[in-house]
Amino acid sequence: MIPFSPPRIDDRTVKAVEEALRSGWITTGPRTKEFERKLAAYCGVDHVIALNSWTNACELVLRWYGIGPGDEVIIPAYTYCATANIVMHVGAKPVLVDVRDDFTMDPAEVKKVVSPRTKCIIPVDVGGLPADMAAIMEVAEHCRSFFTPAVNLRSGKTNPQLALGRPLVLSDAAHSFGARIKGAPVGVQADITGFSFHAVKNLTTAEGGALAFHMPERFDEEGMYKWFNTMSLHGQNKDALAKTRPGAWRYDVEQAGYKCNMTDLQAAIGLVELDRYDPDTIPRRKWICERYSEAFKNDPRFIVPLFVDGVNDGSPLRESSYHLYMLRLANATEDQRDRVIEAISAAEVSVNVHFLPLPMLSFYKAEGHRMENFPRSYGLYSQEISLPVYYDLSGEQVDIVVNAVRAAVGEVLG
Ligand SMILES: *Cc1c(COP(=O)(O)O)cnc(C)c1O
Repeated sequence: MIPFSPPRIDDRTVKAVEEALRSGWITTGPRTKEFERKLAAYCGVDHVIALNSWTNACELVLRWYGIGPGDEVIIPAYTYCATANIVMHVGAKPVLVDVRDDFTMDPAEVKKVVSPRTKCIIPVDVGGLPADMAAIMEVAEHCRSFFTPAVNLRSGKTNPQLALGRPLVLSDAAHSFGARIKGAPVGVQADITGFSFHAVKNLTTAEGGALAFHMPERFDEEGMYKWFNTMSLHGQNKDALAKTRPGAWRYDVEQAGYKCNMTDLQAAIGLVELDRYDPDTIPRRKWICERYSEAFKNDPRFIVPLFVDGVNDGSPLRESSYHLYMLRLANATEDQRDRVIEAISAAEVSVNVHFLPLPMLSFYKAEGHRMENFPRSYGLYSQEISLPVYYDLSGEQVDIVVNAVRAAVGEVLG
């Protein structure tokens, strides 16, 4: 059986976690802070906060920006449910838009639905390929003339909506840590970028996430970091580490915060993962993806995914983090695709579909979202099959997957 994406856990990871366990400090502490500093250096930003998941981190972003009932957040129809769920959690309305042929949110569609109620835009880097951030930032700027900030809002010392004066652009980079736009790492394009370190993601901490801040100059990012740090720990103004100083027991709570901090056990895994990410993880994933593409690209029954885009000033416009291998079956119906998956699975190869578009999920269907309004999302979804990509997948196993896919397609589609 070839699994879909087991994590890379080896002696080095185990040793790092053991050291953390034996260090006497297992919750948020020195390892988490070191992980944050190294993530910030990697992304080329000044401040990163590491939290317990993409979901809780990005929900906290919506709360920081004061988003709630009456507000709208624009998201692609083609994404994982987390992107939409956080909007529901804060009581706002997710406004869905269709995607381009490369699976990422279409900026032209975003422009059609922006309104004075739009408070946030969340593009998604599906499979690791960055969305068209330049065009999306342009749409956000275009909203300045009609943006209506909440007046009684305070997050820390500022009213962020008044200070920004347009919808916040929060990038769902759950798949795209290490991807690049014009040579720059993902993290310096949106206002805030959210990463996921869930077990199946490129870089894992078992569960975890992080936010990279890249706000306009006038924002006090140090103050933002403090706000997020405090709000991830019940709104308590002293964390556990600060309270260990003799006599420093007294603390205060000014707001009912949340509980979504990262532990040093998670950070210990993350530090090992980050250290070998560029030299080892990404090249291996790229090698696997290219081997698949070599096998499928000249066969008209398949459409291979896009990993690198046109060249600009010597660097590719976009380069993926090689998170998913999203193969498409040209001309297949949804039902045929499903039968191809059954046949691949019978050959002991695990595959997946990324994603069921939001309007196909009962909850979002009941909310009134209709699949027929997002024809490109449906078209992509109905022909998509994600193939296994993980560090320990061998070239021989890649060939087994290729043969299983070819045989299954031959059986179902002729
Ligand atoms: C995994 C994923 C998330 C959620 O990440 P968690 O860390 O599990 O909360 C959000 N968006 C996308 C596109 C994802 O694939």
